[in-house]
Amino acid sequence: MGRVYNFSAGPAVLPEEVLKEAADEMLDYKGTGMSVMEMSHRSKAYDNIIKEAEKDIRELMNIPDNYKVLFLQGGASQQFAAVPMNLMKNKKAAYIITGQWAKKAYQEAQKYGEAVAVASSADKTFSYIPDCSDLDIPEDADYVYICENNTIYGTKFWTLPNTKGKDLVADVSSCFLSEPVDVTKYGVIYGGVQKNIGPAGVVISIIREDLIRDDVLPGTPTMLKWKTQADADSLYNTPPCYGIYICGKVFKWIKKMGGLEAMKVHNEKKAKILYDFLDESKLFKGTVEKKDRSLMNVPFVTGDEELDKKFVAEAAAEGFVNLKGHRTVGGMRASIYNAMPIEGVEKLVEFMRKFEAENA
Ligand SMILES: *Cc1c(COP(=O)(O)O)cnc(C)c1O
Repeated sequence: MGRVYNFSAGPAVLPEEVLKEAADEMLDYKGTGMSVMEMSHRSKAYDNIIKEAEKDIRELMNIPDNYKVLFLQGGASQQFAAVPMNLMKNKKAAYIITGQWAKKAYQEAQKYGEAVAVASSADKTFSYIPDCSDLDIPEDADYVYICENNTIYGTKFWTLPNTKGKDLVADVSSCFLSEPVDVTKYGVIYGGVQKNIGPAGVVISIIREDLIRDDVLPGTPTMLKWKTQADADSLYNTPPCYGIYICGKVFKWIKKMGGLEAMKVHNEKKAKILYDFLDESKLFKGTVEKKDRSLMNVPFVTGDEELDKKFVAEAAAEGFVNLKGHRTVGGMRASIYNAMPIEGVEKLVEFMRKFEAENA
């Protein structure tokens, strides 16, 4: 079997060009006579790789000088703890619960202080984004927390919450680099890269400098204190070297494709093809409120569990893989990240039409 159309929510599809380049450089990275996997993270060659990666993501996201870019480990899930440990001066924070990942972050924060759920869409299985224009944010909250794109449920904050002056912390794991972003609206932006940027094992945290402090919660592990890594340019210990190298290649690929403006156009085009079909289909239905639809993760159902199963199996046999919905919600989910080509979505819709005709 050749390459499939991989609709996995993560780890997910990467640009073929990037994979080929990495393959070419596998045995001998630029005349060093070794793979990046075998290289000291203190070497000149590696120093260039990580510096260039940082330079490129700064350029892509237009990251102001007063924000640090940290390449970390532990996945997004470890930042669920790092966020309160580094930011909870007053031991209080406001959380907006729009799905499993936000809920996990909220539960983790409760270990370190008072995490207050100021809004939630749990009442309708997280199928929408609550109105966050006038929330009851505690006076002494250290930050307001969101999961900006809900990977499992397929919703996205198209308007950021009114934080009433508090710093916004956003988990952007599944929408990282999918469209332009105004970094100045956030205190912290972070995400695991395995959804839209690179291989699992790297998490990128973009943090405003004044939020990188020495006075973290007592007991904070050295490795979870952002200042440790900020002071060492992400090289306090051995970083996930190979993963960062691939991320760097993906940054170059996005730049070549025209940057985040072009990514947005590309992603809107793909999502429209799929959503337009779901809106006209008599068999398949999207599961979230239209105004809150994600460009990255598109969940849908037939309304019949057996038919869903049949669809997933037949699709896989045709080379459209990983369309099964998250184990907690069932149905289907097509994740159509940056690296998913338009043809992948067009062909998927073609297949869905055929399946619909055969199963009407
Ligand atoms: C996948 C995902 C996570 C968890 O990431 P890990 O790297 O596995 O810890 C957290 N948040 C969001 C939004 C995700 O999509």
